[in-house]
Amino acid sequence: MSTALKHARERIDDIDRQFVRLLARRQQIVDEVAETKAETGRPARDASREDQLLDRIRSLADEAGLAPDLVARLYEHILAHFVQRQRRRLGRSDASTGKEPASRDGDRAASGPLRLVEEGMNGSRTANETHNGPSASVSEGAAASPVETETTTDAAAETGWPPRLQTSAEQEAADVDVESKPYRMAARSQNPDGTVVSIRDGLAVGGDDPVLIAGPCSVESREQILRSAEAVARAGGDLLRGGCFKPRTSPHSFQGMGREGLDLLAEAGRTFDLPVITEVMEPDDVPLVADKSDVLQIGARNMQNFPLLKALGETDAPVMLKRGMMAEIDEWLAAAEYVLAHGNPNVFLCERGIRTFETATRNTLDISAVPVVQERTHLPVVVDPAHACGTRRWVPALVRAALAAGAHGVMVEAHPNPDEALSDGPQSLPLDDIAPLARLFR
Ligand code: PEP
Ligand code: MN
Repeated sequence: MSTALKHARERIDDIDRQFVRLLARRQQIVDEVAETKAETGRPARDASREDQLLDRIRSLADEAGLAPDLVARLYEHILAHFVQRQRRRLGRSDASTGKEPASRDGDRAASGPLRLVEEGMNGSRTANETHNGPSASVSEGAAASPVETETTTDAAAETGWPPRLQTSAEQEAADVDVESKPYRMAARSQNPDGTVVSIRDGLAVGGDDPVLIAGPCSVESREQILRSAEAVARAGGDLLRGGCFKPRTSPHSFQGMGREGLDLLAEAGRTFDLPVITEVMEPDDVPLVADKSDVLQIGARNMQNFPLLKALGETDAPVMLKRGMMAEIDEWLAAAEYVLAHGNPNVFLCERGIRTFETATRNTLDISAVPVVQERTHLPVVVDPAHACGTRRWVPALVRAALAAGAHGVMVEAHPNPDEALSDGPQSLPLDDIAPLARLFR
């Protein structure tokens, strides 16, 4: 290598070092802002401040001769990460100051399996440590900064184990027979870096931080969904769930509150500054639900409802596609392909258990679907352990399993009074159990 080239590369390396250190410094200040917000009770996100910041970044980029769009996109990712970090810190500051979430059920320490989960976490890997990718270089860059102790070490980057999923050799292996697959746009090779689905408020699914989606199976009343939202927000959860149009096996079971439920869910989301997710069952309902909900869920029973998939493809709303209980992974990805092929790229997947011969659990959580899906598609994948196992005391262990497997998030059901829930009570957590679960994410 010529000396000139070597020197030029050293200068580039030096700039990268400074850049990462500055990012670490920025993160430190963002953390200070989070502390102030926690003290003053302000929410993690200030949308107008973000808009102003992005405008400023664009004009700075322009003045510096850089493409404003490129730099703005970079900043959007940085902001998304930091906002999510602030949300978590705000949630944690409630827990760490002993200021328990203002639950109307009264204070209650984590009990039973949740306590076991928390104890089990001591000294074990965190979710971050199981994630490969860009976080590795940020940790490295932060090493010389004052935030060193705050920054999680990426064990995988240091030890080479577990292996990264998308090495080029593995990628090639996964793509060998892409021609024979019933999907093309969803294939990993279309976006080897992985798709990040932006929701709103800087929240994204598919980035380095796994998301926590929590809330009741069904919206049942204003009080029930507001109390649930409060618990999710205080725990530092990312999205509030609540079914309004319910796919029930029996026509005699509670069918959901429909439009009224949608309004209540949207109100609860607004009140606690949480994006919301709810299921849509009919193509005709798509515009209505897309208007009220930040993410549209396609339930397991509708995974191959092709008119519904097409209707969702015609929107640009984020879609969470659950795996059908009898669906092979490639059938699931082909269903996602319908949404993509009809024009909507904002899709993420949700593994929720499949039917097997086993009867001890409601379904069988196919945890292996997480790495398999990540090899075959660029779409993010989250895990819903509650519908898989059907029993609340098994949920925390499966949340840990999902995070360890590298899922981009987890969805759980929680209810102010699970024993009286109108749907899926046995698998719903009491609201006080959301916060200890959320701590598994940090
Ligand atoms: C739900 O999320 O409440 C639900 C009905 O899930 P699934 O479609 O996975 O059964
Ligand atoms: Mn449910």
